[in-house]
Amino acid sequence: MRLWRVEEAERLVKSELARELAEAWARCGDEQCLADTPFEPELVGVGRWWLGPFTIGNRKMGEIPFFSLPPVSTCPGHTPFCLKWCYAIYEIANWRAHVREAAAYLLSLRYDFPDVAARYLSRLPHPVVRLHVSGDFYDRGYLEKWAEAARRLPHKTFYTYTKSLRLIRGADIPKNLIIHLSADPFNYAEAAEVWRELRRGFITFVYTPGRDEELQALQHLLENTEATILLFLNHVQHAPRARVDIAQLRRWLRERLGPAASRVVLDPEEFAGGPQCLHCRLCWIYRQPFK
Ligand code: SF4
Repeated sequence: MRLWRVEEAERLVKSELARELAEAWARCGDEQCLADTPFEPELVGVGRWWLGPFTIGNRKMGEIPFFSLPPVSTCPGHTPFCLKWCYAIYEIANWRAHVREAAAYLLSLRYDFPDVAARYLSRLPHPVVRLHVSGDFYDRGYLEKWAEAARRLPHKTFYTYTKSLRLIRGADIPKNLIIHLSADPFNYAEAAEVWRELRRGFITFVYTPGRDEELQALQHLLENTEATILLFLNHVQHAPRARVDIAQLRRWLRERLGPAASRVVLDPEEFAGGPQCLHCRLCWIYRQPFK
């Protein structure tokens, strides 16, 4: 199957539009400067729902600013599971969001990216920032740039989920940059190994209705780590649409995983329809116990 969204993202990264947008973001840092550029507000990111490269909120998160990159090409740890189910590949956003991701990637290549990111974020009142609704840490230098931005903004909390497991090993990550490990049926053994090294954050896993056999990986994660496993629900448009009986799923987990099943948390927004991340806060409030 052709991954047209991935091909389009690669093409956009090379476009003049993305290059000029990234240059405008690097030059600006406030609303007035952005409004004075020749770009339309929704593209350059000025108004209620954006500030430059940051988009403010989505349906799942509520009003939390996020920074996204093109899918797959910025995800060195992507697996066959991602290519089949990643919502960033299959969910149709609008063309502006795709150009903004391409420009965000070009912006992130700059040596002064931590300054630029901190400049925009210091103008936003939101205390929590999400990295990578789409995309991931694509190399160590880029990870270090976010670590630097987080150090400069100690009053803000940054959180993300990553499959770039090799990149985060041994990295100097400040406490206000919370990185959860994203495991799937292809990378769960490595995820367990990396978690044992880092001993911080959740391990996340995606449940696809009707594919209960994939949950066997949870047994390995529970037996080989002390991590809390955050279970997401596969909600990409071509995922099986079976109604999930939460009580039955919990029973199934208890029967197969025993008492360790108490360390599996079902994502409240995805399994029960709410609350949104902004009110749930689970993914960043447990920062203290992360050693
Ligand atoms: S556990 Fe809560 S904060 Fe984390 S992704 Fe789910 S709804 Fe958002």
